[in-house]
Amino acid sequence: MKTDNPHIAILGAGESGVGSAILAQKQGFELWVSDNGKIKPDYKAELDQYNIPWEEGGHTFEKILTAQTIVKSPGIPDTADIVQQALNKGIEVISEIEFAGRYSNAFMIGITGSNGKTTTTMWTYQTLKIAGLNVGLGGNVGQSFARQVAMKNYDYYVIELSSFQLDGMKKFKCNIAVLLNITPDHLDRYDNNFESYIAAKFRITQNQTENDYLILNADDQVINEHLHFNKGKAQKLEFSTLTRPTKGAWLDNDKIIFNSINSEFDMIYTKLALEGKHNATNGMAAGIAADILRISKDNIRESLMTFSGVEHRLEPFISVRGVEFINDSKATNINSTWYALESMRKPVIWIVGGIDKGNDYSELDELVRQKVKSIVCLGTDNQKIKSFFKGKVDHITEAFSMKDAVAMAFDMGKKGDCVLLSPACASFDLFDNYEDRGNQFKMSVRAL
Ligand code: ADP
Repeated sequence: MKTDNPHIAILGAGESGVGSAILAQKQGFELWVSDNGKIKPDYKAELDQYNIPWEEGGHTFEKILTAQTIVKSPGIPDTADIVQQALNKGIEVISEIEFAGRYSNAFMIGITGSNGKTTTTMWTYQTLKIAGLNVGLGGNVGQSFARQVAMKNYDYYVIELSSFQLDGMKKFKCNIAVLLNITPDHLDRYDNNFESYIAAKFRITQNQTENDYLILNADDQVINEHLHFNKGKAQKLEFSTLTRPTKGAWLDNDKIIFNSINSEFDMIYTKLALEGKHNATNGMAAGIAADILRISKDNIRESLMTFSGVEHRLEPFISVRGVEFINDSKATNINSTWYALESMRKPVIWIVGGIDKGNDYSELDELVRQKVKSIVCLGTDNQKIKSFFKGKVDHITEAFSMKDAVAMAFDMGKKGDCVLLSPACASFDLFDNYEDRGNQFKMSVRAL
């Protein structure tokens, strides 16, 4: 290992940290990986394989604070002691995307929003793949961006950018930036200040020049009221389900119309691969990005009609004796559950609950009255849900395991109903994470 290069410390050894470590090692930096929790055995083995020094179960401050740059995992808040001390010492603290972006000349498509990031990132990626572009995917699903920059040589990247990733960005530039929507989320990391969270989302526009593009949701009031947070100079395109933007895509009765930078075309709305208005907006954003890259309308249409969706996001699972089961375990806030309920076409038995992030259930009131027959509460904050929806649906029950929740929901269901798991809450009370929650749902359904 070279010692004459700057010293890099990597905080957090999950996929983004380990990816960054491999990239830093390949770039010849002296480095130190530190995680205050447990590192997964596979990642430890990988760090050893690359001869990368690491520690777990705590941070050695003296060592980390000699670094010139700290690459911080998105899960670690700025208020963490080690980060505060580093910032006070003037050490540069950046995100994995910022770090990896310094070693790639690829064309960058960055996607952010409170909901729909993973879906739109995957959909855009698929569209570029169908068109035969040499494209990599960086985000929540699969390998980190840093790992791919270390191992591969892509011409294009489609990257999912959370607000935490955006917070750690300095020079990174999106050639195409997509801002899907902004609703309150993760406010605990932003001093409960919605404006700070909005500003974080708009950082996706930073460093953009006249040759870049910004794709925005024209229907989103928060975005429209904060356009002054856009510090870039990119050309703007919009998508809408309500109005007709000058350039971009919109819904016109039964058609989605594209009038973007390079072509004009339309497609039948009901042929879109995923249901729900929110998915129309995700698909429009993906289609506009693809059109900017001169992908043909046939390829864009094909991708919009064939995308199979992402697991745990409004995922149609199986039907058991005429009752359909839908897994929307990734719905961890009110807004995503609102869209799930909005897209339901059958009477719903709704499995909801988990760790409440300060939910205001009145936003779901009307949809629940219209669409939901029965509710099964599953989590630690059942009381709030029970008292809010009491008298508004036929039955409310509660369960303390997924197996019981699924069995109760199935008991209440009739042929032609659907059981929707869309918790509107975080999963850490009863499950490891949302994937575990969704997998347990599917296992319990299979066992019926
Ligand atoms: P993210 O990566 O931003 O968390 P996902 O694509 O993983 O977004 O979807 C998270 C949840 O939000 C799922 O329940 C999904 O059905 C829902 N969702 C997807 N797109 C949107 C959207 N544009 N607006 C609101 N909810 C959405």
